Amino acid sequence: MAEGFAASVTFPEGGLPVWADLDVGPEGLRIRLRDGREAHLRYDDMDVDAAGLDAEVVVCRSRSEGYAVQCSVPGFAQALGSHGHPSIAEHLGAVDQKVREHRRRRRAGVGVAALLVLGCGILFWYTPDILAATATSLPLSVDEQIGDSTMDDLEEQLGPRMDDPTIQAFLDRTIARLEPHASERAFRFRIHAVDSDEVNAFALPGGQMVVMRGLLAEAGDPEEVAGVLAHEMAHVTERHGIRSAAHGAGRWLALTILIGDDSALLGLAGEAASYANGSAYSRESESEADAEGVRLMAASGLDPRALARFFERLKQRSGSELTGMANWLSSHPEHDERIAHVNEVAARVPAAPRQPLQVDWAAVQAAARR
Ligand SMILES: [Zn+2]
Repeated sequence: MAEGFAASVTFPEGGLPVWADLDVGPEGLRIRLRDGREAHLRYDDMDVDAAGLDAEVVVCRSRSEGYAVQCSVPGFAQALGSHGHPSIAEHLGAVDQKVREHRRRRRAGVGVAALLVLGCGILFWYTPDILAATATSLPLSVDEQIGDSTMDDLEEQLGPRMDDPTIQAFLDRTIARLEPHASERAFRFRIHAVDSDEVNAFALPGGQMVVMRGLLAEAGDPEEVAGVLAHEMAHVTERHGIRSAAHGAGRWLALTILIGDDSALLGLAGEAASYANGSAYSRESESEADAEGVRLMAASGLDPRALARFFERLKQRSGSELTGMANWLSSHPEHDERIAHVNEVAARVPAAPRQPLQVDWAAVQAAARR
């Protein structure tokens, strides 16, 4: 009979841990990775150790392949031992010893300070939400570190930067208009356009933003672009990137972050691709960014409904009509609901007197549609 446990798996080549479900069987572990892959780790190929502040994580490592399975579900070690494999019994004896050692040290007061700081029991019972909340207590400079190293990874995949002065001046001017009204002023917003037909834009943690030429070509007026950029800036100031990365990264990473291992944190930047295709953020984050973006537009003297107009425009055009996929829209589902939400927020936020962006829109479009 097999017993199931949730776990994470780390690979020798590095990268983020992958969530998995474990079945503890008579011959070893059946590992079902949540990305669909499957592996079998036999007891006679397995080293077992304990990790974590309180030795509460059981780590099973494959000697032949080097990957490691981390499980902190109570009862896992017991299940491992229940099939009576001799080498496992030996390993578990050593693990047990380590756990007792940790408990003794803890009773002796070592690590008490750390536990106080982390909050009672968080290491055992943390949920992804608690972890996400913990992530936002990290200094803002962490966002920039993660964002900048992500941009390095993404740069090759994205296509060449555009160095068109008309487009760059428009983007810089738009950011400069919005930035003074941002809810958090500590981020350095930087933006550039990429020469791609995709109708897409995104922001990375810390303030780097990218807009694709296709989005500029598709927009009906400069404020529609500003509406999209305000939405993206809101992802930055609300720290959605670091929150969702921490949310998805799992217990093992939680441990390493909480213990203070910065390299684990930078591992979060491995999620680069998910920012560019828009899948990095949850629905709640999207809705929050819509509302905050609308507030930002209104406070900046720009049309708070511009984002809704952009949604409407994309809705009129089917995906096949657009050159490339309308990524920004397809990654932002339920747009009827969102259009209604944007208009509803726009009706109630305080608005500065309207002051249109000073821009030669025809020249921007000409540069974007070439
Ligand atoms: Zn978004």
